[in-house]
Amino acid sequence: MSLIDLIALSADEVAALVRDWGWPRYRARQTLRWLYQARITDIGAMTDLSHSDRTRLAAEARIGSLTPSEVLTSEDGTRKFIFPLEDGKRIESVLIPDTSSRSHDRLTLCLSTQVGCSLDCTFCLTGQMGLQRNLSAHEIVGQVLAVQRVLDSEHHLTNLVLMGMGEPLANAAAVAEAIHRLTNQTWGVGFSPRRITLSTAGLSSRLKQVARMGVNLAVSLNATTNEQRNRLMPAVNKAYPLETLLAACRTFPLKPRRRLTFEYVLLAGANDTEQDAARLVKLMRGLRCKINLIPFNEFPGNPHRRPSDERVLRFQAILTRHGLEAYIRKSKGRDILGACGQLGTLPDASVLVRPPGTQSPSPIPIHSHA
Ligand code: SAH
Repeated sequence: MSLIDLIALSADEVAALVRDWGWPRYRARQTLRWLYQARITDIGAMTDLSHSDRTRLAAEARIGSLTPSEVLTSEDGTRKFIFPLEDGKRIESVLIPDTSSRSHDRLTLCLSTQVGCSLDCTFCLTGQMGLQRNLSAHEIVGQVLAVQRVLDSEHHLTNLVLMGMGEPLANAAAVAEAIHRLTNQTWGVGFSPRRITLSTAGLSSRLKQVARMGVNLAVSLNATTNEQRNRLMPAVNKAYPLETLLAACRTFPLKPRRRLTFEYVLLAGANDTEQDAARLVKLMRGLRCKINLIPFNEFPGNPHRRPSDERVLRFQAILTRHGLEAYIRKSKGRDILGACGQLGTLPDASVLVRPPGTQSPSPIPIHSHA
């Protein structure tokens, strides 16, 4: 008989299990707290259960968890965790320390929501893998639990971003359930939804679901005309062209004092001209928002190039001059392929980047930091 994985159950399912076993109702909450607040992986550690109850539970159930097979540390302190899943597939999460933010130090974890991705954005490595499968809610929450276990008790994650591998709104049910477990204050991990941001390539019809989840919304715009966006993000823009996407953004029920984030990957010669900046200003009219500019992070085999710093600054200056708040996202963890768009398995990097005539496969080039 295979064991029940407690972490794979919803809170209601845990309650049903407790009922079936004839245990008092409060035991469901106790169990959930062990899973999400104490982050235990061993039923033997549930010390408020009698020895015989623990033995009985351990005979029928287990607590599944993620353990990194590899942790790569960047020279800027960013860490990439590679997690094998139970079916042997792999996902990545990226831990990003930020000591430069004004108020206090931030420690952000970037979570994956799918193995691979169903979209085909031409500048993103994950897109090149295709979709292998959706993650379940516990595999999404599991990334948070696993990383928090690795950090010593001194360090706590402060922010979560759903910006790793995958399109979160293509796996919305599991993402919503994961957010429920991450934000529940009574028995869950206890994150404030204000500290969680979901980034979508623009599945416009599902933005309402993000509002229901209560988390911040980031939209990867990346282009200013349909023609350009069809080239850069064909799958999503053909389904939801710019007008549809921006209309959905305009009706997004923003809470007071919150705003939307638009991400814009800057690709040399493809979407980084002054005309693009001017068009972006127009598209953003009337939206309560800020813009995050992300200079393209290069990876082997991809033809796009990162614009010069000067060009990036010029683009930003045009937005700022027209009253938009625009930030340039620092590319952290580029040397470990841990930056935006660099998560996933390279098809065969050595073949892709080896110039003719060289004897050994070239390693993945290490980028210097801007
Ligand atoms: N599918 C979601 C979340 C993952 S991508 C989305 O599209 O929003 C997270 C961000 O990284 C997106 O804004 C995306 O446009 C950006 N990105 C993808 N590849 C990139 C690359 N190579 N360099 C810089 N940013 C990239």
